[in-house]
This record gives sequence, C-alpha cells and structure tokens, in this order.
Amino acid sequence: MPYNTGQNHWKLAVANFQQKTFIDLDPFFVNETEKSTKATLHKFIKYLLNRNKVGYEVLDDVEKWEIISAPSNLPRQSDVVSCGLYVIHYASIIIGHSVDTEDFDPVTSRRKLAYLLLEQAGDMRHLCGQCGHDQYSTNNKNFSLMAQCSNCLRWFHRRCAPALKKATCEEINASTFQFCCHICGSFPSQ
Ligand SMILES: [Zn+2]
Ligand SMILES: [Zn+2]
Repeated sequence: MPYNTGQNHWKLAVANFQQKTFIDLDPFFVNETEKSTKATLHKFIKYLLNRNKVGYEVLDDVEKWEIISAPSNLPRQSDVVSCGLYVIHYASIIIGHSVDTEDFDPVTSRRKLAYLLLEQAGDMRHLCGQCGHDQYSTNNKNFSLMAQCSNCLRWFHRRCAPALKKATCEEINASTFQFCCHICGSFPSQ
C-alpha cells in the first residue's frame, strides 16, 4: 500500500500475510517507523481482512506483527521530488514485474511512466478540454455539441471554446469545419 506522510512524501507499506510482518519502505531509507505509522498499518490490515472476509483468526494478533527492515539492495531516493516513482518501482519489484536493480534512474522512469499513462489512457473524445465534462452532461443539444481543435486535437464544447461560440451549429457540424482552440492561442481557420 502506498501512503503519503506529511502531505509531501510517498512511502510503501508491504504486508506479508504468511510471515505476519510489515516492511515500511521509505525511499529515503530513514529507518524510523513512527507509532502513528504502525497504527495506520494495523488498521489497514484489519480493513483488508474485513473486506475480503478472510483471516479473522489473525485479526487479533495484527498488532503484534513485526515491522522488519527494508531489503538493503533497493535503490535509494537521491533527489527531493521522485519519492512516488521510487514507491512504484519498489512495488513492481515486490510483485515481480521488475528486476531488482540498484541503478534505478528516476528521470527515465518518469518518462516511461508518462508514455505508459498516455498509451493506456482511455479515449478522451467525450471529455471537453476546457471544462472536463462529457458530451452528455446536459440535455441541451447546443450545449453538448463538441468539436476538435485541429492543432492540439483536444475536444471542446461549443460553449467552452470562444472560437466555437462564434460558429453556428450547422458550421460546426459540417465535415469541412476546422478550428484552433483558445488554448492553442489561435482563431478559427474558417
Ligand atoms: Zn466544456
Ligand atoms: Zn488546441
């Protein structure tokens, strides 16, 4: 379970149900698990067990689960901004999706993750680039009419893009219609 501490730092809590142990993985490898963290980990395990309706017999002793230290071969965070990437990397090592390596590069990892998110993202055509709502957020026909910016390929409601407000619905619906959105800082090409 990834969790955020102090509203500015990601850590990873790992529970081993067979061994009844926790690892509290801090990308900075500061090895002090606070009391509040322990209590949070215990609550989390109880929640998981309750939700899955299994393992009631271990509920009683979860407070006694030992917190063990992190494997020393994990890469350590060397900047002040990449804790989230390290946490993702640790998690992928633990579930066997990544090989255990000490030469983890957060810059490369950040770029790979960005590509992955973009590649795996759903079709955004039903979401307006200005308001973020979909095409069907209202029953009003004009309100839900959308068009695609020919420059950035984002879609916009007619009411959300100044250039589209100036065009009639017939113009927008025409197959030849093109426009550049206000985010691209341009004007309708026709
Ligand atoms: Zn909109
Ligand atoms: Zn645009």
